[in-house]
Amino acid sequence: MKTKTYDLICLGGGSAGFNAARVAAGLGAKVGVVDGARKLGGLCILRGCMPSKTLLYAADILHHARQASKFGLTVTGARANMAAVQRRKRRIIADFARHREAALFSGKFDLHRANAHFIDTKTIELTTGQRLRANKFLIGTGSKVSVPPIPGLADTPFWTSDDVLDLSSLPKSVIVIGGGIVACELAQYLLRMGSRVTLIQRSSQLLRGLSSEAAAIVQKALSDEGMEIFTDTSLTKISGNRDGVLVRFEHNGRTITRRAAHLFNALGREPNTAPLNLAAAGVHTRSNGQIIINRWQQTSNPDVYAAGDCSGPAEIVHTAIMQAELAARHAMGVKKLKPVDWSLLLSVVFTDPQLARIGYTERELLDAGVPYVAASYPFDDHGKSILMEAKYGHVKVFAEPKRGRILGAEIVGRDAGELIHCFNGPLAMRATVFDLLRAPWYHPTLAEIITYPLEEIAETIQTRRRKKKTQ
Ligand SMILES: Cc1cc2nc3c(=O)[nH]c(=O)nc-3n(C[C@H](O)[C@H](O)[C@H](O)COP(=O)(O)OP(=O)(O)OC[C@H]3O[C@@H](n4cnc5c(N)ncnc54)[C@H](O)[C@@H]3O)c2cc1C
Repeated sequence: MKTKTYDLICLGGGSAGFNAARVAAGLGAKVGVVDGARKLGGLCILRGCMPSKTLLYAADILHHARQASKFGLTVTGARANMAAVQRRKRRIIADFARHREAALFSGKFDLHRANAHFIDTKTIELTTGQRLRANKFLIGTGSKVSVPPIPGLADTPFWTSDDVLDLSSLPKSVIVIGGGIVACELAQYLLRMGSRVTLIQRSSQLLRGLSSEAAAIVQKALSDEGMEIFTDTSLTKISGNRDGVLVRFEHNGRTITRRAAHLFNALGREPNTAPLNLAAAGVHTRSNGQIIINRWQQTSNPDVYAAGDCSGPAEIVHTAIMQAELAARHAMGVKKLKPVDWSLLLSVVFTDPQLARIGYTERELLDAGVPYVAASYPFDDHGKSILMEAKYGHVKVFAEPKRGRILGAEIVGRDAGELIHCFNGPLAMRATVFDLLRAPWYHPTLAEIITYPLEEIAETIQTRRRKKKTQ
């Protein structure tokens, strides 16, 4: 079989691989995409962001219906029809996947439907036996569910997020192990649909890596809704069969056992790089398989780039796309590029209340010894959120103490994932709290809550300036 040669081959046609291919092809490069998935679309469309948010939105509506009496309304018999919810999700996702497939089959690049591994620094071999060569490669092979060595886990039937996203009937009870973003989002989905949910997290807080103050608010909201939550635990035994599971763990010096109909392993994901034979390409990884990249997305082999979940540092879609676009441009020799600016990192947890952050977290500022002024304002003291019965949460803003340049923001509360976008333009443009306060803010909106911490920071800075003048 003749070996085809490309300017760029993208391994994986998900968010990273597809977008690298799109950009490189747009620059006139000869591009090949290799993806061995039975269904094309990548994690975000098929088993990640889009299906999970479709289901969470349905669960939100059910929750609102059940809360109707708080608003003086009578809604009786509100309950989940899981089969119908699932049908709607499948319809929506199939449509998204069709669009991605159409783009992959658009003819702008060659699509090879097979898995690949490296033979040498310039050659990959497909599972069909075909070999392809390229001057540059982009690895975007994503991640897979990890199964840590917890006693009994590998021998116990468990669900992954893929299974939870596909449920057509309501499980009576579920034990969720893990307390990260996917764990919390899908645990609340199951809870709101009507399952009994116990969540067991090893760390001392949910959503490890995010602010403990914000995570505590999410935890309180989930507990108030009826979820049983244990943090700071150590799992000692997991066992079970198709009839049910048992989880035993240490918590506060006690041994606790919980039983449920199902186990949801939400302990996280790991880079999907093991089958790639990266050593043949001279590509180095960390011990967990994560590909090591520089600020241009180049691996230890400068002709091989990586982006998205397989390289991190963030396992989210918009950064995978930014990394991939940068890699494609760099690989094609585009000049005057800027690396991905991780100081603008934006992330959203789609629980209710949502937890969103952008820029530096308070922990990062403290650890780096960066001086800052902070101010926060609670949702339970804001007109619009009070009338919406959306009282969990706060907006917290961090700004540089002299000029008031915004360094970061954290919002926990209803629609925090939308509200945080009040900050993304200003942060990218290095705006100050004074700049934001010059902008109009419509009343009564949820967004208006942001003005209170901004005003407090502005006041603090002005007071300091006045004091300095009089000294
Ligand atoms: C339940 C869930 C919810 C999520 N929600 C959000 C969210 O709300 N917002 C957000 O930003 N992120 C979310 N994420 C994360 C997001 O989905 C991922 O960060 C993103 O999709 C990763 O894109 P990627 O291109 O790196 O990998 P993927 O989209 O997984 O693409 C990898 C592709 O590589 C292919 N492949 C793998 N190995 C090979 C090989 N050897 N040869 C050829 N092809 C190969 C695969 O078939 C796949 O198509 C969520 C994830 C999960 C699991």
